Amino acid sequence: MSFFGRRPKRSPTPTGSLSRQNSLTEGDGSNAKPLYLCSPFADAALVNGNFKTIVMLPKYVDVMEWVAVNIYDFYTNLNEFYGCITECCTQSSCPTMSAGSNLNYLWTTPERKQVSLSAPTYIDSVMSSVQNLLEDENVFPTKSGQDFHKESFPVTIKHVYRQFLRIFAHIYHAHFHQILHLRAEPHFNSLFAHFLAFGREYQLLDEKDIRGDPNAPVGAGLLWERWKISGKLEKGAGEA
Ligand SMILES: [Zn+2]
Repeated sequence: MSFFGRRPKRSPTPTGSLSRQNSLTEGDGSNAKPLYLCSPFADAALVNGNFKTIVMLPKYVDVMEWVAVNIYDFYTNLNEFYGCITECCTQSSCPTMSAGSNLNYLWTTPERKQVSLSAPTYIDSVMSSVQNLLEDENVFPTKSGQDFHKESFPVTIKHVYRQFLRIFAHIYHAHFHQILHLRAEPHFNSLFAHFLAFGREYQLLDEKDIRGDPNAPVGAGLLWERWKISGKLEKGAGEA
């Protein structure tokens, strides 16, 4: 079980110099629809069809192992995307971890205090802590004979998943125009759709985390609604 090879650090070479433009929305009214919800961007994808087949547990593979491999892949891919836009996500451009017009995520300290961090500090904290977890043999065992912890592993993974969702949500909300500039929206949408389909299939994501609070909705949560209706995301077992 040596699928966890070398773990990449944050990409040190952001591509090009992208300026922050006021092109987050279509139209100029304050209620204008964000570009990521507009055609053709909202439905741009690498492949047509749904993600059910690629999230299914392969035969003879332990479910914990399958979740671990996928978490590692989501971490790697999300890290690479963020690496491409990292120079546009700064203390001044993103002083809060925003993910909707009325939503700023707070960071919970080890003392359980909720504090507001800038988006780059927040994302850096998530990525560093996940990297440490991935390298911890007690959490992600890679040697044969070592098992995943039945109680704590699912709890840890749900927490990691929720944090990854927040990073996706911030990128959609604050940096989608840079994703468009890189012409990477089919890749980014496909990664997010895969992430959502996998999270729902293995109960790693709660619906309330995807949608957010009615008073502070997650902007990218509307993509989930849209893709569910279009059949891109198959409903998971037991989902109403
Ligand atoms: Zn940002």
